[in-house]
Amino acid sequence: NVTSVKDAIKYAKEHEARMVDLKFLDFPGTWQHVTIPAHRLDEDLFEEGQGFDGSSIRGWQPINASDMQIRPDPTTARMDPFASVPTVSFICNVFDPITGQAYSRDPRYVAQKAVNHLKETGIADTAYFGPEAEFFVFDDIRYDLTPHSSFFAVDSQEGTWNTGRDERPNLGYKPSYKGGYFPCPPHDSLFDLRTEISLVLESMGIQVDAHHHEVATGGQSEIGIRFNDMLTMADELQWFKYIVKNVARRNGKTVTFMPKPLYGDNGSGMHTHMSLWKDGKPLFAGEKYAGLSDMALHFIGGIIEHGRSLISLTNPTTNSYKRLVPGYEAPVKLAYSSRNRSAAVRIPMYASSPKAKRIEFRTPDPTCNGYIAFAAMLMAGLDGIERQLDPGDALDKDIYNLPAAEAEKIPSAPGSLEEALEALIEDHEYLLRGDVFTEDVIETWVDYKLENEVDPTRLRPTPLEYQLYFDI
Ligand code: GLU
Ligand code: MG
Ligand code: MG
Repeated sequence: NVTSVKDAIKYAKEHEARMVDLKFLDFPGTWQHVTIPAHRLDEDLFEEGQGFDGSSIRGWQPINASDMQIRPDPTTARMDPFASVPTVSFICNVFDPITGQAYSRDPRYVAQKAVNHLKETGIADTAYFGPEAEFFVFDDIRYDLTPHSSFFAVDSQEGTWNTGRDERPNLGYKPSYKGGYFPCPPHDSLFDLRTEISLVLESMGIQVDAHHHEVATGGQSEIGIRFNDMLTMADELQWFKYIVKNVARRNGKTVTFMPKPLYGDNGSGMHTHMSLWKDGKPLFAGEKYAGLSDMALHFIGGIIEHGRSLISLTNPTTNSYKRLVPGYEAPVKLAYSSRNRSAAVRIPMYASSPKAKRIEFRTPDPTCNGYIAFAAMLMAGLDGIERQLDPGDALDKDIYNLPAAEAEKIPSAPGSLEEALEALIEDHEYLLRGDVFTEDVIETWVDYKLENEVDPTRLRPTPLEYQLYFDI
């Protein structure tokens, strides 16, 4: 167990590391890295860090204040399983070298502040998070995003793409749309790949619960990993994506975590299980609905109250909203229920022991920035606890098929990223407590998303528009 700078240096020596890889998560949520030789790994590196150009990282510094610094967190030392030369990897925090202060737009810093805020409230000392990031495995993907092109094509592992034709021979056994859940090989052609990924995860100390084919065709998969405390889990989520993508790559496949790659089939969610603990005791188990405590119900109350704003951070891409539609096991209504997959919050009933009592927020998807999304979920839940928000009655019905009059009474998830960002502008006080998020982080998020994602998506002609309108 690496708990100090000394340990980290020793760990690197023991593993005969020749290189040191420094990783950090950018604002939109993609891991970045820079690599240095092992002779530079000394106590100074942890104090003084490594310089980089903050203006070349999306959403960060202007060109006239671009010098920034990353400092490795010694407790995150792990050998990188994909480097051909032994390479010790650290996850870093970002600092401003002029002021020596932690950088407020560093997502990992936001998450650290959220964890500290939780402790300061005295409500709990630990928040456990367990995300289930689903993904698609494709054989190949080709797209052309040159400025004048609006065409792209996906060639999927097992099926045809929604508008394309698959010219390859069909060996049978292709899972149909929405027909992929739990079939054995040869339908499940990704059995070995998921096992290989699972073994790499376990070799890195990330414990796997189970892996399986998911509902969609095209190689949709899920590999469940064990929950952890919020910050460690956010770090592990990055390792998870990195390992999934890189094992696929070395097998000649490619992975996407985008929420809705295939029209008409299930999308990929990142259901997030959460529970609060204090002094080693679980706080979400009790005598109320589905074996929950009052605290857990208030936490749900906070998630629902702030849901529309929260979703701008947990479902932060234009593609996210193509998943949040009825009929594909993704939630559309901000309601809660036990066992119900059409509600935004589910209380899993598989496990009944108080230790396993948790809530599952089903709306998030794996394009979120884990640090930011987890921090925001925690802040919404804490606000619910502090204000004792009532989550209303549980909705133990199929929410996709409610009579219109009943459906209208339940708040809906936003219909687009733009709508979600508007909700964030209206409602973000709860995120600012304890300086976890700052006004600057919220503003930068909204501006970045509108300018780089919402507008370019809205303004670009799509293949479907050609199909619909070309010969009018
Ligand atoms: N893929 C579904 C989603 O988009 C979830 C399926 C499941 O319940 O695991 O959320
Ligand atoms: Mg699943
Ligand atoms: Mg789930």
